[in-house]
This record gives sequence, structure tokens and C-alpha cells, in this order.
Amino acid sequence: MAFAAATGVMPLDMPESVLVRFKGELQPGITLRDLVHAIPYAAIQKGLLTVEKAGKKNIFSGRILEIEGLPTLKVEQAFELADASAERSAAGCTIKLDKEPIIEYLKSNIVMLKWMLSEGYGDVRTITRRIKGMEEWLANPTLMEADKDAEYAEIIEIDLATIKEPILCAPNDPDDARLLSDVAGDKIDEVFIGSCMTNIGHFRAAGKLLEKYQGELPTRMWIAPPTKMDKDQLTEEGYYGIFGRVGARIEIPGCSLCMGNQARVAEGASVVSTSTRNFPNRLGKGANVYLASAELAAVAAILGKIPTVAEYLQYAKALDATAADTYRYLNFNEIASYTKKADAVILQQAV
Ligand code: SF4
Repeated sequence: MAFAAATGVMPLDMPESVLVRFKGELQPGITLRDLVHAIPYAAIQKGLLTVEKAGKKNIFSGRILEIEGLPTLKVEQAFELADASAERSAAGCTIKLDKEPIIEYLKSNIVMLKWMLSEGYGDVRTITRRIKGMEEWLANPTLMEADKDAEYAEIIEIDLATIKEPILCAPNDPDDARLLSDVAGDKIDEVFIGSCMTNIGHFRAAGKLLEKYQGELPTRMWIAPPTKMDKDQLTEEGYYGIFGRVGARIEIPGCSLCMGNQARVAEGASVVSTSTRNFPNRLGKGANVYLASAELAAVAAILGKIPTVAEYLQYAKALDATAADTYRYLNFNEIASYTKKADAVILQQAV
């Protein structure tokens, strides 16, 4: 601070960036979670990331992960990509989006924050300041962009047309990204759908697959949406009824098994999980945990094993047909129970 006060400048060492540039068209049955895993998979192929602990290479470690080429993602989807940058040991993550999804998200978020105020949540001054900041940005929306001649420590290009099957992370290392065809057939005992990597669309997708299943699942299934709002909406839409009917154990919203300090999977269980990380013993003692999409996790729960590519694509076909309904996000500004309370909130002037 003294240096800045004396010289009027403050030199800061900024970490370098690694640019991940997606291009091409997403293939049928391929989910956003597969794109999350495509990043370490592509880095492994290029020799920029190794799985072995001895002499480990990791191009992302301590750098900023910049992601381009998916500009129309919803903000909830972008969170899924950014969330996983911690698993890459990156210092931070940016995702280049168009203005439209950001405007859509902030409009919804303002209503949600006002609703929270009406419910007596949190620090009123902090929430009010956030709302006003978002309203100011919406009045003049501008986004930061990388310089045209920006230099990167590495550029990794991923052509979506080449990703024709899901990508999972094998037990017990989130860097160990493998194609479904390399791990298909492994027996699965338990399945966890939850954590901050999931949004409401994942639970609808799983619910739609499970809806057609008759009887109780051959696996122990755990469901834990990340927020109470997700839980309320899924209950209203009937998905909690489907989860209950197939014998899933429904946990209270939050981190749940991902944290590993509440419920745990059985000792030595083989698990498919949608959570962020699968470090040894995190979900359960001696458990072998695959990381995968909620869609693939639901199929594994039904079959009691990791499906083959053909089996998975057969289930995924049904999801593609109902994608518009499944992958809707919680736009609180379009839900009367939230807007009614938000509209009645009068923000403090002096914050
Ligand atoms: S413990 Fe909670 S916040 Fe941390 S990664 Fe898991 S779900 Fe996300």
C-alpha cells in the first residue's frame, strides 16, 4: 500500500492464462459435463497433463483457465465449467459468453435476491449493494474481452464434432479423464446425483430416465439438489415422486455426499457421482468413484453398471427429444411466487 501511495502505481504479477477454445457442433448424447471432462482429456492427449503423481505435469496449475467458443451457454451451464477449474488446480477461470445469457441470469438473480430479503435472509446491505450493482450493469451492459493479440501459455482447441461419446473421470482422480468405451461394463453399487456441479436440468434429465423404469433400482441412488429452490421446483414438477418411487434416497439440499461428512457411500463401493471431485475416501472409505454427467449416472443406476456407448446413446436419444423441457433453468423473474414477494421489497437508499 505504501508503495502504491508513494508511486501511484501497484505492479502485480498476474498468472498466465491457458486458452481452451471449443469449436464445432455438439454431438447427440454429449452433455456439458462431458465438455468439462474433455478439457483434461484433451490436455492428456497433448502431453500437457499427466495422471501419475510422480513427475506430474499440469499445464493448468496456478494459471487462469480461459474458455471460449460456447457463447450461448446459460450462466448456470457456465458455472459447471468454471466450477471444475478448481479440479484443474487453476488459479481462476473465465468463460466468454454473449451478453444475452448474462442479462437473462442477472434479471432472474435480482428477483431471487429481493425474494431472499423478503424472507429475512443474509446481510441486507450486502444484498442491496449487489442488486444495485447488477441493475447498473443491466442499464449499460458491457463485457470485458481478451486483447486480440493476447498471449497464452498454451492454446487447447477442442472440436465438439470429435467428441462422440461421454467422457468420465476414472477412480479416484479428477484428472484421469477417459472415454466411456474404455470403462464400460464396470459394476456400479451406488450413484450420487448432486453437488454444486449440478443444476435443476440435471435432476430433470435423471428423473425423465428413471420415470420409465419399473420397480426399485438395482443400485443405491442418492439425490441431493444443491439448493432449496431446486428442491421446491422439482417437487412441484413431480420429480421427487419419481425419485422416491424407484427407491432413491433423497438428501437435504446442499453439498451432501460431495462433502463426505454427512452421509457416506458403503465401504469399498463402486460409485458413479456427478460431484466435483473423486479423491480417495471422499465419498466413502475405500470407494471407487467415477465422475460423470447426471444423464450417464442415471443410466448406470438403472443398469447397475457403466453402460456401453450404444446403451447410453439409446437412453440419451429419449433425452434429446425432450431437451427443451429438461434443460430449463430457474428464471425467478418468471415464477409468480418469487416475483410477488420481490415486487414488495423496497431497497434501502443509503448502502
Ligand atoms: S463440498 Fe459443496 S461446495 Fe464443495 S465442491 Fe462439493 S458441493 Fe461444491
